[in-house]
Amino acid sequence: MTVNLVTGKCLCGQISVSVPETILIESKNVGLCYCKNCRQTGGCLASYNLYLPEKDAIIQGEPKIYLDSSTTNGQIIQRAFCENCGSPIYGRNPS
Ligand SMILES: [Zn+2]
Ligand SMILES: [Zn+2]
Repeated sequence: MTVNLVTGKCLCGQISVSVPETILIESKNVGLCYCKNCRQTGGCLASYNLYLPEKDAIIQGEPKIYLDSSTTNGQIIQRAFCENCGSPIYGRNPS
């Protein structure tokens, strides 16, 4: 079976993320986060997120990682961003 991938890129095009098209269709995989850290990371009122298992995301390029330890639940979140243009790429909960 062929899996159709949808690909997005950061502002400068240095990093891309591809995910299966089927994940985008299901609304349970999409959500907004209004926490202070997401707002500061994106410079916006909320982050618009696609939640998926790590194995389903194909990252091309080398994002820079910031370890965000000032989260409300105390878990350290890896926040990946493009070091060239600053675009947020993904957030990863190590657990
Ligand atoms: Zn970039
Ligand atoms: Zn958040």
